[in-house]
Amino acid sequence: MNFSYWEYKTWLSNIDFTIVGSGIVGLSCALRLKQKFPAAKILILERGILPNGASTKNAGFACFGSLSEIIDDLKSHTEQEALQLIQKRYTGLQLLRKTLGDQVINYLPHYGYELFTLDDQTLFEECISKKEEINTLLKSIFKDTVFTVQNNIFNFKNIQPQYLVNQYEGQIDTGKMMEALLNKVQEAGIKILNSCTVTAIQNLNTSVKINTDQFTFSSNKVLIATNGFAEQLGLQKVKPARAQVLITQPIKDLHIKGTFHLDKGYYYFRNIDNRILFGGGRNLDFKAEETTNFGQTQLVQTQLEKILSEVILPDTSFEIEHRWSGIMGVGQKKEAVVKQISNNVYCGVRLGGMGVAIGSLIGTELADLL
Ligand SMILES: Cc1cc2nc3c(=O)[nH]c(=O)nc-3n(C[C@H](O)[C@H](O)[C@H](O)COP(=O)(O)OP(=O)(O)OC[C@H]3O[C@@H](n4cnc5c(N)ncnc54)[C@H](O)[C@@H]3O)c2cc1C
Repeated sequence: MNFSYWEYKTWLSNIDFTIVGSGIVGLSCALRLKQKFPAAKILILERGILPNGASTKNAGFACFGSLSEIIDDLKSHTEQEALQLIQKRYTGLQLLRKTLGDQVINYLPHYGYELFTLDDQTLFEECISKKEEINTLLKSIFKDTVFTVQNNIFNFKNIQPQYLVNQYEGQIDTGKMMEALLNKVQEAGIKILNSCTVTAIQNLNTSVKINTDQFTFSSNKVLIATNGFAEQLGLQKVKPARAQVLITQPIKDLHIKGTFHLDKGYYYFRNIDNRILFGGGRNLDFKAEETTNFGQTQLVQTQLEKILSEVILPDTSFEIEHRWSGIMGVGQKKEAVVKQISNNVYCGVRLGGMGVAIGSLIGTELADLL
């Protein structure tokens, strides 16, 4: 690389902390580090022109778990572990809202809804029968009733006649949230270099040598926040999980408002700008979706369109305007991995499907390892 003396001195020398990845975790980590070490020189390296993983691609649900998910978690976790997961998500959401402000991220408390397919009668009945038990359990966090039952007022078709409502779930504008985080990071004097992929990290005694696809340099500490791409830097316990999404054109008099979970959370949709944003279907072929490659498949897209016309908008004509995908980081356990890997290398990865909720907190926890 043909760096000048000035370029080298200003951007690439005496770096205290290098963060790999500018998603919610990387940016939140950078802000926390600057708060703790105001004089530190912090550099973020991001391989995309924009952040290019999940943080700018997601559905913007400000959620902490549907009733069926909590019941399911209680089958494999102790009560205390399950509560801790919910507490973390809720605390993370509060932190995100406090850091950026509800107006800035367009937080709207429109409630969350869990819908059940006609085939899911047994699960629906299990949820109804355990609703009070779970509400009692959640009192320690919310001090109030979280889940109630409501009739199908949005006129969805081919689902159970009632659904569960979560009064503590809301929605945000994902783009606004990420724009605000990026602005905050830049205002704090933290540098971001885009279109720069970290290819290797070599731990030396008192520093770390970082290879990128553009240049090589060294930093005192490195913090990896690459989530679904973590395996590429040698972190074995994180698997990529692609999620496909589509959005309709604006729909006149759209009557649907809220965030909706369908079929045990494998599908999710919401209103935004008089449109329906709809994603999911990873369960149709888990193996094919275990990839870091962006893209869409015929299988998933056909199913999304089928559910859209048969369940969500059965009496409304609509056009699909745009489709995209994002890459999540998942693993056998639901907890994120926040740890020190070697002398000077740390990671905060494996955010699963709720990184909007826990991302700020995981970024903070990652910085607090130092
Ligand atoms: C379609 C979709 C819908 C979702 N919906 C929701 C939702 O409604 N609510 C919710 O709470 N969560 C949701 N999530 C999950 C949430 O978006 C993620 O958990 C969260 O954004 C993860 O943030 P992160 O910073 O850990 O990872 P990311 O945002 O993926 O950031 C990692 C960054 O690292 C960069 N990177 C990777 N490798 C390298 C490298 N070698 N060198 C340099 N840079 C690198 C990537 O380009 C990326 O920008 C959804 C995810 C997807 C994909």
